[in-house]
Amino acid sequence: MRYEKLIQPAGENIIIEDGELKVPDNPIIPFIEGDGTGPDIWTAAVRVFDAAVAFAYDGRRRIRWLETYAGEKALERYGEYLPQDTLDAIRHYKVAIKGPLTTPVGGGIRSLNVTLRQELDLYACIRPVRHFQGVPSPVTHPEKLNVVIFRENTEDLYAGIEWPAFSPGATQMMHFLQQTFDIALRPDSGIGIKPMSATGTKRLVRRAVKYAIEEGLPSVTLVHKGNILKYTEGAFRDWGYAVAQQEFGGSTVTEKDVQEKDASAEGKVVIKDRIADSMFQQLLIRPEDYSVFAMPNLNGDYFSDAAAAQVGGLGMAPGANVGDDAAIFEATHGSAPKYAGQDKVNPSSLILSGQMMLCHLGWHEAGDLLMKGIEQTIQEKRVTYDLARQMQGSTLLKCSEFATAVVAKIKQLSHAR
Ligand code: NAD
Repeated sequence: MRYEKLIQPAGENIIIEDGELKVPDNPIIPFIEGDGTGPDIWTAAVRVFDAAVAFAYDGRRRIRWLETYAGEKALERYGEYLPQDTLDAIRHYKVAIKGPLTTPVGGGIRSLNVTLRQELDLYACIRPVRHFQGVPSPVTHPEKLNVVIFRENTEDLYAGIEWPAFSPGATQMMHFLQQTFDIALRPDSGIGIKPMSATGTKRLVRRAVKYAIEEGLPSVTLVHKGNILKYTEGAFRDWGYAVAQQEFGGSTVTEKDVQEKDASAEGKVVIKDRIADSMFQQLLIRPEDYSVFAMPNLNGDYFSDAAAAQVGGLGMAPGANVGDDAAIFEATHGSAPKYAGQDKVNPSSLILSGQMMLCHLGWHEAGDLLMKGIEQTIQEKRVTYDLARQMQGSTLLKCSEFATAVVAKIKQLSHAR
């Protein structure tokens, strides 16, 4: 592969064969540092990733990082926010990780994150949400919530098919609806279209069910508003049940069959569905009843942030955008530009995204070591300012000091193994 400006390190490529990743011991992985506080958290996080891998495999494995550019750094080097080099490298190397990107202000520029997802067809937005002991939360038992949310990333109202009120597009759509279906809308309406397909739904739910089976998790819940929107949200539920039954019938059972036909759930993933508004209540009242979620784009957007808030906020929440050909792991918060260069903000969201990435590579030993390192550092109340100001008796660390503390913990844990 030839790039205009990228310097490729020595290392080997990750490849995908029959839908499975084949990962060498020295994989080349592209990273995007990100804007604002991106460089602060990347510099901290990469030390933690390298330590987790080195200690988990006694130096036999090592990631070869390839810097790629997006956002302000890309504008300086390439004169554009998202150069072709970056898209080509992520497509070629299959797995990438990124810090937050500032959405450029100004007419006509789309969010870089949305563009990356669309260009690479990263159709599943995956967010694990769990509590870390010691992190302040607005609920009494935050530890009862431990879920993974699979949110559809390419369809629904987010497809961006909409026209402003009084525009030619809105006028034509209104004319069409009136003429063809005898539907009269208020003349000052903006119009948006909500497409949801069997293809888009099934590939998302397939990924969620496969994940639950592989990880030995108890259930997958399909969340929708099918009681009102029957042919989009309701179809999401029906297609979801269909994919579970047709493709994973031996490993799954529906909640209805368990409740009404006394079917056994022993060793199987229970597939259930909930209406979205009721699910928001359930998440607060009975979080322990839920494990993996699959949901359409808009419900998933609200739900992911609400779930993250329940365990102490977005500063800690990791995420990934995954497709069949590539995956990008990312911090879920924004670029927090007012703290840029101050070595102050919390790098946990990016560090935990890296933990997800290590597990995606199949490097579970490194992922587990990293997770324990971060859990124990937080338990000891050695945290950055955002948590320190809410935790009594905590030790305030800079962003880089937090990484140093996690690395020391990883070293200690690996020696104790
Ligand atoms: P933000 O997440 O940057 O900041 C919201 C609040 O959270 C601020 O008070 C900030 O200081 C704090 N915060 C954020 N990250 C933190 C961390 N790691 N540690 C401690 N505190 C942290 O959201 P915003 O201000 O709405 O957005 C800033 C820019 O980031 C915008 O251009 C936005 O478009 C972009 N953005 C990018 C992503 C992404 O790249 N995935 C996500 C959201 C927003």
